[in-house]
Amino acid sequence: MKNNRLIKSVRYILLSIFLIFVTVEAYLHQVLGGRKSPSIHALCPYGELESMYSLVFNGTFIQKIFSGTFILLMLTLILAIVFRRSFCGLICPFGALQEFFGVLGKKLFKKRFVMNKNIDKPLRYLKYIILVVTLYYAWITAGLWVNPYDPWAAYGHISSGFSSLKEEYPIGFMILILILIGSLLYDRFFCKYLCPIGALYGIISKFSLTKITRDKDRCINCNLCSKNCPVNINVSELSEINSSECINCNLCMIACPSDKVLDIKTAGKSVKPLTNIILVISIFLGGIMITKATGLYEVTPPKITASTRITADEIKGYMTLEEISVAFKIELNELYERLQIPASIPKDTPLKEIKNFIPGFEVETVRELLR
Ligand code: SF4
Ligand code: SF4
Repeated sequence: MKNNRLIKSVRYILLSIFLIFVTVEAYLHQVLGGRKSPSIHALCPYGELESMYSLVFNGTFIQKIFSGTFILLMLTLILAIVFRRSFCGLICPFGALQEFFGVLGKKLFKKRFVMNKNIDKPLRYLKYIILVVTLYYAWITAGLWVNPYDPWAAYGHISSGFSSLKEEYPIGFMILILILIGSLLYDRFFCKYLCPIGALYGIISKFSLTKITRDKDRCINCNLCSKNCPVNINVSELSEINSSECINCNLCMIACPSDKVLDIKTAGKSVKPLTNIILVISIFLGGIMITKATGLYEVTPPKITASTRITADEIKGYMTLEEISVAFKIELNELYERLQIPASIPKDTPLKEIKNFIPGFEVETVRELLR
């Protein structure tokens, strides 16, 4: 029991750390800009999935996505293969946000609600539809198509103020509010019904090396495991949990009052819940640290120097006029002439902000004029 409390606390502490880290980074991104602090997209594995088509066929990342985002996706896919959806259960900051709203909801309503089965079952397929639709449009538009509708992107921009949220994320912000209200009532509301990357991890976890097993003979049928499962898996009626919904949160094991009834098995070997958590976190953070030390992990744009070579198609909105002049080896006055913009625009203006001086000016115009 004492050990179970420890595991529960470790899990909450980890989720809190990841949520605080991403929230602070998102705030710094608003204050310091994308050069100094990563955007919430760059820190989300789904961003790389949206960029995959561009990476495979053009060799470039789409806007706001960098090598570090690719590494995050790869690490979470490895986790899904080995430890099921453990990214969801132990790391994901949006999952953490929902859990903390769930704790608040439990305090407010003194219980958790369970969606009616007839509504719950078809709703669970919604996340797979969202995965296919958002990826299709991200790939054909070569951009973060889902951005205006993305509740997590809206969360990352809360610090930019309500009017900016209303302008940039009117739908995403409304969806975020709905998700938070939903999370007050239902466990993991977004994860169960809406999250596209969770859907992908779920598909992969079907082939995972990790499974939870239940020893029917030792089980006292108290049903506590099922009651504590945030994704409503009927653990107490199964002998093996192979559901794509399982987020490897360990809460069923922590709730079980009998010894050795529930067991986590990875590649056929029993793994203690605390060891399971330590292994997951070590793979995730270890992978980030190693790739960071070797210079592979980047979540902010690399600095442009005289040796930088980019093509017109690789021009991004965050690049300044001065950087374009350096990268393309064009004198600044010649660049202003080619772009047909007045010399009064400061050279440190990011391309995406030229529209503040010339309404309607698009970054695409720069690409076209420099091709
Ligand atoms: S389902 Fe999505 S939001 Fe939920 S924990 Fe997994 S990745 Fe995060
Ligand atoms: S079955 Fe257990 S580990 Fe899986 S989601 Fe439910 S409580 Fe978490």
